Amino acid sequence: MARILILLAVVLGVFWWLRARAEARLAEHRARQAREASQRTGAAGPADATAEPMVQCAQCGVHLPQGEAIAWRGLHYCRRSHLPDESRAEGGDGSGGPHP
Ligand SMILES: [Zn+2]
Repeated sequence: MARILILLAVVLGVFWWLRARAEARLAEHRARQAREASQRTGAAGPADATAEPMVQCAQCGVHLPQGEAIAWRGLHYCRRSHLPDESRAEGGDGSGGPHP
């Protein structure tokens, strides 16, 4: 009888250990998910799917979303033809991509 009780205790102990391990893993997983979610909302903001920062063209003064603007030397331009001549002389590749 005592042997059965010991066996039962061992089985229960193993079950308890496995469950504790699974719970710890689940808690860690949830914490990581929460952290990633908060990072996402912190980086993008809760309601700015459309609220892109607006910039002004340094040449003609028109306002446009930053994603559509061409950045050059800290200024923004609405189109490549509005970039100063020195940008073309400097770049020369004609890509017109945003430069830092
Ligand atoms: Zn412009």
